[in-house]
Parts: sequence; C-alpha cells; structure tokens
Amino acid sequence: MQKQANLVIIGAGIVGASSAYHLAKLGWRDIVVLDQGPLFETGGSTSHAPGLVFQTNSSKMMTGFAKYTVALFNSLEDDGQPAFYPVGGIEVAYTPERWEDLKRKHGWATSYDLEAHLLTPREVQDRIPILDQEVIRGGYFVPGDGDAKAVRAVAALAKAAAREGAVEFCGETKAGKIEVKNGRVQAVVTDRERINTGHVLLCTNIWAPVLGDRVGLKIPLVAVEHQYLISEPLAELAGETREIVHPILRHQDCSMYFRQHADAYGIGSYKHEPLLVDPYDLEKTATRPFTPQQFDSARRAAEELLPPLRSKDYPTRFNGMFAFTPDAMPVLGPAADIGGMWVAAGVWVTHAGGVGKAIAEWMTAGVPTMDLHEADVSRFHAHALTRSYIQARCAQQYREVYDIIHPLQQMEHPRKLRLSPFHTRLEALRGAFFESSGWERPQWYAANAKLLEDYKERIPLRQGWEARYWSPIQGAEHLVTRQRVALFELSAFTKIEVSGPGALQYLETLAANRIDRPVGKVIYTAFLDQNAGIKCDLTVTRLDEARFLVLAGGGMGMHDLAWMRQNAPEDGSVSVRDVSSQYSAVGLWGPMARHVLEKVCPDDVSNQSFPYFSARRISIDSIPALALRVSYVGELGWEIYAPAEFGLRLWDTLWEATMPLGGIAAGGGAFDSLRLEKGYRLWGNELHTEYNPYEAGLAWAIDLDKGNFIGREALIKIKEEGISRKLCALTFDTPEGMALGKEPILSGERKLGYVTSANYGYSVGKHIVYGYLPIESAEPGTKVQVEYFGKRHPATVVEEPIYDAEMEKLRS
Ligand code: FAD
Repeated sequence: MQKQANLVIIGAGIVGASSAYHLAKLGWRDIVVLDQGPLFETGGSTSHAPGLVFQTNSSKMMTGFAKYTVALFNSLEDDGQPAFYPVGGIEVAYTPERWEDLKRKHGWATSYDLEAHLLTPREVQDRIPILDQEVIRGGYFVPGDGDAKAVRAVAALAKAAAREGAVEFCGETKAGKIEVKNGRVQAVVTDRERINTGHVLLCTNIWAPVLGDRVGLKIPLVAVEHQYLISEPLAELAGETREIVHPILRHQDCSMYFRQHADAYGIGSYKHEPLLVDPYDLEKTATRPFTPQQFDSARRAAEELLPPLRSKDYPTRFNGMFAFTPDAMPVLGPAADIGGMWVAAGVWVTHAGGVGKAIAEWMTAGVPTMDLHEADVSRFHAHALTRSYIQARCAQQYREVYDIIHPLQQMEHPRKLRLSPFHTRLEALRGAFFESSGWERPQWYAANAKLLEDYKERIPLRQGWEARYWSPIQGAEHLVTRQRVALFELSAFTKIEVSGPGALQYLETLAANRIDRPVGKVIYTAFLDQNAGIKCDLTVTRLDEARFLVLAGGGMGMHDLAWMRQNAPEDGSVSVRDVSSQYSAVGLWGPMARHVLEKVCPDDVSNQSFPYFSARRISIDSIPALALRVSYVGELGWEIYAPAEFGLRLWDTLWEATMPLGGIAAGGGAFDSLRLEKGYRLWGNELHTEYNPYEAGLAWAIDLDKGNFIGREALIKIKEEGISRKLCALTFDTPEGMALGKEPILSGERKLGYVTSANYGYSVGKHIVYGYLPIESAEPGTKVQVEYFGKRHPATVVEEPIYDAEMEKLRS
C-alpha cells in the first residue's frame, strides 16, 4: 500500500468509485481509494441497494445527475454482466391528487429533456402484467429508467479508473484520522499506513459525519434504517430466469417501490416511522436487524396492487441504512476552511454517476460545469448543523420521501428559530409566517384582509393547488405598496462586512462591476465564477475607504460567504465577517416613503442629498441607522439597517409614521410579485452559475475596463461569440394562464425553456413568467405555451421590465 498519494478517496461505494473514475479521466493520478470493508461488497449502502433508478426530480440538478448516471451505467459491464437494465420505470396513481401530480411531474421531465409518458391503467398493466389495473388511475412512465447493479457498476468503474491511470483500491483499510496542518490536508492515517496526501475526498456516506467532525467539517446527515424484502417465486413469473424484465415500479400513495427479481418480486417500503441511527453508533456494515412490525401495513398495500403477492412469504428480508440530509439534497464540495478537503455524501445510486462527474470537474477546474448550489456543502446556516435540527429534518425527509410537496409547502418543525426583534409586532398583525433559513418571515398579514374591500377587483382569485400557501391579501399589499407605502421585514438578509487595507482590491477581484466608487455609493454587482457563471448576486456599499457592506438575500447567505472566504487573500489584509445577526432591517418602500422618513429623520433625505443607489448614516428618532436608497420592489424607498437591539424601536417608529399615510406592513408574497413586475432577478431561480450576465440581461452591471476580476476572460469570450439564449419575460394571453415555477415553455412540440419564476403582477394586471429562451424565440411578440398540470396556456414574450421601464418611480 502506498505511503504517499496525490489524493485519498475514503469510501469505495458507488460514490467513491464514480468519483475516482471521473477524476482519473480528467487526468488525476496517484489516487488511493480505501474502504474499511472488503472490495467491492464493502458492507456500505451500495452493497444493499436494489438499484432502482427513477430519474425524474423537481430539481434540474438531481434529474441531470440521474440522466448522466443512466448514460454512464448503460455503458458499463463487469465480467460480461451489465451494470444497468434499462427496463423503464412506472409510478402509479391511486388518488386523484397523485394523478394530477404525475402530470406536474411530466412537466418537469419536459423541462429537463427527459422522455416521459402518461399511461392509462391498461397501459400500465400491459407493461407489468401482475399489477391490478382496477386499483389505479394511471401511471407515469419513463422509458430510460431502470435498475442498476450497483456493485457491478463499482467494480466496472474501479477497473476503468485503474486503466485510466494510477488508481489503487485498498479494501479492509479503515481511515481513522485526517491530519490537517496550517489549514491544509496533510495525511490520512489508516489502520494499516499513514498516507501523506494533499487532497482528501470523503465518500463515506452514513459514516461521513464522524470523520468530518474530527477535522471540524460538519456534514449534516443521518443514517436511516430502510427495509427491503424479496418474495418467494410467483407462479405468474414461473420459468423467468432473466434478472429483470418488468419496469421498476413506485406506489407513492403508499410509500413503496417494487422491482422484479427473475421469478420473484422485491418490495421496499418507507411506510413506517423513520428509524434514525446516530452516525457514532454505526458499526462496520450498513445493516440492522430486520423488524417485521415495520413491514405489516406495507405488505397489505403491496398485495392490493400486485395480487400475486397475496399470502406469499418473503425469504429474503434485510434492513439496510442509507443517508438522509435535512433538505433531501446531497452534500458536495470543498470544506471552506480546510484546503484540499472535499466531501461527496448523501447520494443515492441513482445520482452517483452524475455526482462523480460533477465533483471531479469541481476538484479539477475549481468550479463545476453544472450549477450545484442545491447540493453545496456550504449552504447550511449554523442552526441547520445542530444535532437536534439534523435529526428532526432528516426524519421528516424520510416521512415525506414520496409525498406530494407543494413548492411553497412550509416545514412544521423546527420553527421559530430565528425571530426579528419586532417579531411580536408582526404576530400582532397576524402574519402568515413562512420559514426561510430558520427565520420566520410573514408571507402576508391577515390584519390587511380589510384592504380587499378596495382592491378585490384587481386580484384574480385562485383555486385548488395554486391557491395553497397563497392569499388574495398578497395582491392588496402589493397594490398599497405601489400606491402609498409599506414596511417589509428584511432582518433575514445576509450582511457581510469586508474591511482592511486589501478590501477594495479583493472586492474588485470578485465583482463584475466596478467597486472603486466614492464612500456612500451602493453598487449592484454579480460575483462570477471562472466560467462567467453567476455565483452571487448582491449589493456592495462603500461605508469607508476600506470598509464595505455586502448585502445578499438570506437563503443564499452561507453559500455567498463561502465563496468570499475561499477567494479571500491569506495574508491578513482583508477581513470577511458575517454580521447578519448584528443588524435588523426594514424595507420602507412606496411613493410616500420619503414622507414617512421625513417625519422621523432630521437628516436631508431629498433626492438631491440622498440619490438612488447611495447610502447614508441617518438617525431615525434616537436610533442610529444605515439607510440604503435601493429597492427590490421597484418603488421609491430605503432599506434601513439598525443594530439589532434597536430593531423593535425602529419598527415602532416607522410604523407610527407610516400608519397615518394609509401605509401597511407587507409580506413576502407581495415582495415577490413586486420584484417580478420590475424584472428583478432572483438568485437560485433566474440566476446561477449555468447562466452568464449577458444571458441574464445584466450586461449593464459589468465593467470590463476596470481591470481583472474572476470570470472576466470568459465574459470577453462570450461577448465576442454572442449568446444563444436569453432571459425573457412572458405574460399569459388568457386569464386561465397559470404557472408556479419549473413548468416547460413550449412552441408546439418543441421545448424552448422552463419557468424560472412566476407570479401575478397586480399593478400591471398580468400573470408574469420568466424563463430562458433560445435567442430566436426571445423577441417580444413571440407566441409560446406554458404547460401547467398537462394543460397548455398561451403566452407572449414581452418587453421587460414590465413595470416602470423608465425608472421614474425609483429615481423620484
Ligand atoms: P456507501 O456505499 O455506504 O459507501 C461508503 C463506504 O465508506 C462504505 O463502503 C464504507 O465501508 C466506507 N467507509 C466508511 N467509513 C470509513 C472509514 N473510516 N474508512 C474507510 N472506509 C470507510 N439508492 C437508489 O438510488 N435506488 C435504490 O433503489 C436504493 N435502494 C436502497 C435500498 C436500501 C435497503 C438501502 C440501504 C439503500 C438504498 N439506496 C438506493 C441508497 C443507496 O444505496 C445509497 O445512497 C448509495 O449506495 C450510497 O453510496 P455511497 O458510495 O455514498 O455509500
């Protein structure tokens, strides 16, 4: 066994093997892959997985991982045996709600270029003859789905990796410690050897938190028990010797899945309370004793759908474990504070091919080619790394694994973790609270219901699915903001202070816009990655010569902070500090915002003294505050920041000045429709690393002449070559038009793009949709269709922004 390696991958399950293979293909050499178990049936989760690969996912990233996995596994074999059986996959609907949801799922497949079909019960039974078509309403069929032989895939990938270059797989070798010195990985100490290395990739899945904790890298996942059984032979399949011919099958209304094993059938069930196992209590294999009581109700449901299973015995039964994360997404990427330390955990077999490719690209080029923010190890806020939170959320993910989840569905527990100092005031206004990164944020206020008397004509009513987690009050709050004035709770925003002698130069290196502007200037900018993909979208305010405040949305804060820390100079010339919890914030917006501010602030807040995109330290009553003349809702107004202990007083003071002018408190629902009318992009939806600023319509915030910055070279190339797609605004042609996000945008049978954001624009009286379209379809006036639950709605590309294109409101 080597004592020196360029890279040590810990864990030789499907994720470790896939990563090793892709890294070797990208030219990495001198890789050691070690596992505590024997190769390649190591005793990890991969050894137990029945291997069902259903590709469709609401996340484009996850669908992309799965699509790549299928393509890769289809090309692999071990000892002449295939690593994948492309038998197709069917998800059946028992209930009307599920049948509707399968139509939504079909929309995702279209959005993400995955072939899929809806089937009648008869068509389902034609493909799975042992299924009773009488009990279902229909099915969703993906011809490319199938069954992976995960251990064969590991063996094939390991051999292919070894052929590519120097990759050594070592079984029966347990890593006990990762040595870190001066913030960099130095070695992996195993029970056989100490291996000097500069890079470690942790692919230890359910065991990952243990080694992670030892180097201070929190990996929020937990092992959950999961049972799988294989029946005795079925008479209906007598004589069948082929491993699998029927499509794999999901019965999500009963939280179960099935696959054929030659003349028998396998059943996996989530139909029981989650059984969590602390990573520190794990032994060497990912198995636990089988507990029959967890299977009883699943058994009855299985027999109803597949009658040949009635009164059959299950000679093979085991209880394996695999990892769940707090948000059901993998945990991938570099440790922000440890050079050379990487992780790829919380990954299913289904996604392992794509994850291996993505992590290899990321480790090689410093950035992945696919946007991975949903899986980024640095996305978690501090509360989401606590044991209690991890346990609560992972258990809930297990319960909900097959549930129909509304895009705005709110988690029930744990709640009330992060409260603004004026939370009690928002409660008194009967805020309908949504959770965001642990914060409680009002989506609308029931106290505003009386406004509907004046505005209901302008607020189209909703029913059914699109009416969930929605209230017409959002429309009224939107309209009052446009006509008078409203206060918005903004405490959840991420606030990062950058200071020191190197601060300006550092921010110039990160930002696509020029940062070197006078003190008091607010600069809107993107931070790009090396490919000119949009990594962060934020404002930078110059507070002093060498002190800046970086402000970004709450949800992406930790991700933005990690990017900033990774790119900070190591010479101590720059300090990057998360000061989010030090300040509470209120948005004061609307045509009467200046009247409100003048009542409580002795400073000159006229347009001349306090112009758009500037910041001033002002007093509000006796409160020292920082006000920024910016607005994400497209109206005159300010974001006002005050030290947290003044937060309650800040709210009360502004509230008392706002009320007499007919002002209100407005929530996140109004905020979103206001920003969409004004064409403001949302990071994670319209913006992420797969899009560049030219495509996103943000060329106005690039300064190519200011000197070098990350992504500049790529930007110049893109500018020269031109773009092939563009972010567009669309409005529906008929009042029935509806979208909530991720629906396909089509021209006839051709998919053009998908919906990145959608909301009703109450001021302009139109339902607005944003999405990227091929450049030839991006001209205003182009007619398209948006498919919502299987129904096509005509829409037209329009000039954007739809509201106040002349910027008169903002600059008044
Ligand atoms: P593992 O396969 O667990 O590999 C991690 C490896 O790390 C192990 O081999 C372990 O021995 C090694 N290791 C840990 N600590 C150390 C150490 N200190 N030193 C050295 N080595 C160490 N997924 C699907 O996509 N479809 C399915 O149908 C499916 N069904 C499943 C059914 C069951 C019953 C189970 C248990 C899982 C199922 N999964 C399924 C999930 C899937 O199996 C896992 O998510 C996947 O195999 C994880 O792969 P991995 O390589 O990350 O982890």
